Amino acid sequence: MDDIQFRSAAHEVIDYILQYQRTVRDRPVLPSVEPGYLRRLVPSEAPPTPDRWTDVLADMERVIQPGMTHWHSPHFHAFCPLANSPPALLAEMLAHGLSCVGLSWEAAPACLELEVVVLDWLVRLLGLPEHFLSQSGAGGGVITGSATEGVLLTITAARERALKDLRRDQPDLDEATARGRLVSFTSAQANPAILKAAASAAVRMRVLPTDDGCRLRGDTLQTAVEEELAAGNVPIYVLATLGTTGTCAFDPLDELGAVCRQHELWLHVDAAYAGAAFVCPEFRHLLNGVEEVTSFSFNAHKWMLVNFECAALWVRDSGTFTAAHKIDAPILHTAETTLPNFRNWSLALGRRFRALKLWFVLRLYGVSGLQEYIRGHVQLARQFEELVRRDDRFEVVAPASMGVVCFRVRRGGDSATEELLRRVNDAKKVFIVKTTLANGALAARFVVVSRVTTAEDVVTSWEEIRRHVQPNQEESEAAMEGEETVAQEESIVTKEETSAQEHSRVTGKVETHPDVAEDCQSQGVPACATTRTARMNLTRTKSGRWTEEILAQRDFEAEM
Ligand code: PLP
Repeated sequence: MDDIQFRSAAHEVIDYILQYQRTVRDRPVLPSVEPGYLRRLVPSEAPPTPDRWTDVLADMERVIQPGMTHWHSPHFHAFCPLANSPPALLAEMLAHGLSCVGLSWEAAPACLELEVVVLDWLVRLLGLPEHFLSQSGAGGGVITGSATEGVLLTITAARERALKDLRRDQPDLDEATARGRLVSFTSAQANPAILKAAASAAVRMRVLPTDDGCRLRGDTLQTAVEEELAAGNVPIYVLATLGTTGTCAFDPLDELGAVCRQHELWLHVDAAYAGAAFVCPEFRHLLNGVEEVTSFSFNAHKWMLVNFECAALWVRDSGTFTAAHKIDAPILHTAETTLPNFRNWSLALGRRFRALKLWFVLRLYGVSGLQEYIRGHVQLARQFEELVRRDDRFEVVAPASMGVVCFRVRRGGDSATEELLRRVNDAKKVFIVKTTLANGALAARFVVVSRVTTAEDVVTSWEEIRRHVQPNQEESEAAMEGEETVAQEESIVTKEETSAQEHSRVTGKVETHPDVAEDCQSQGVPACATTRTARMNLTRTKSGRWTEEILAQRDFEAEM
């Protein structure tokens, strides 16, 4: 590919991305392919001679798009946000254009120095303690690929610090026994990847129960630490979560910090998702106690508009931290500088120029832009909570916290909620996943994910979710009684073939189409509509809202 071809192809790629982003709202969120679909669409071997660019680009639609789950659809409400913004995309292009490896200052001075600067900016932007600033002398930050990597790096440092102390205080203790005595703590609501990080560092992690609000409390930690000490073990590390994956709960740092100070434990904070919210001062009360924290990490690639991957990790004592990760070899010889040598702050030697996208996003959104974005998502989650509360077939079990709301089908136990999730996700218009609450009950978890989600999208997603609820017998009867009342007062109308059908086919929506009301009311027949996935009767309630009674569910699209 020569320069001219590259320029033209690059323009086509940008156009493709723009076109994708414009149409993502209209695509089913989940794909319809079966596992193994892709192998059937590509040759069994790499091409012996170069393929044509036009064929490669065309295969984005033929091969790739059918297998895409659309994370940036406004109806994707699963997992966590995954940032995707124009400034970050531009920076990614440039970073890959310059393509360097920031393993030392000489290897990529700008890459290293910008990382130091933007991480200092972030400390101030998020209201984190000054001891995390590189200029503080002892502390500093580094960009990692993930929250899990941050846990692995910090727990390893805590382990090495503890082993050093043990070797000094109990020189007769053999290494295996010393290592076997180390123990760390987290809550049952911590992300499961954390346990993998602890296992990789060969440190036992004790998982503690939370209170009803899914928070790890200080007294629970204190009791567990005392139990371990009584058993002759050596507590070393506590992982607190600000914004748990399940319900976005916030562990009280002040309580946990007091226990950690008393027992000299490393206190690490995983704020992978919710950390970005601290750009807004109104959320900083959730940081109470952060002065006690030893290390802190959050993923700018989740909720801060910086494309994947870009997680920030700060430590208050870089000496202890880097002692555990130091590597040297003649080939790595580095000039003496006061700047951090990031190869001693990370797992891999190779480091991408990730600071560039952080820099672009911070500059092109500005503090005000980031605050507006975060507040917008928080508002949308509150809106969703309100919608759930208005339908008494559902209950909110964890109110909106940042962009997360958890709810359940009110009757029918876990299986009713499980069934709801299955039906919603099978229909592929909205994607939500489940979580487990502190009491072990299952809940559906709705998250505002996409950068382009609007209030109208939230209503559409909710209407799609609620139309899949299976009324149990008791509710059906109650509903039928209610309907009869409405029938007497308002005369329920029916119609076999309505313009609603056409409207539904195009939009997948039925409840708001004005023609349905007019056609059916005037002809005195119940409205029957067919969407892509369901055939239903429509009933107009006294309040003027259309409710749907699902008659059959399958793929009707082919029949339309
Ligand atoms: N911690 C929390 C609170 C999370 O929500 C997640 C993922 O959603 C993780 C950790 C795992 O993040 P990563 O993939 O960056 O390791």
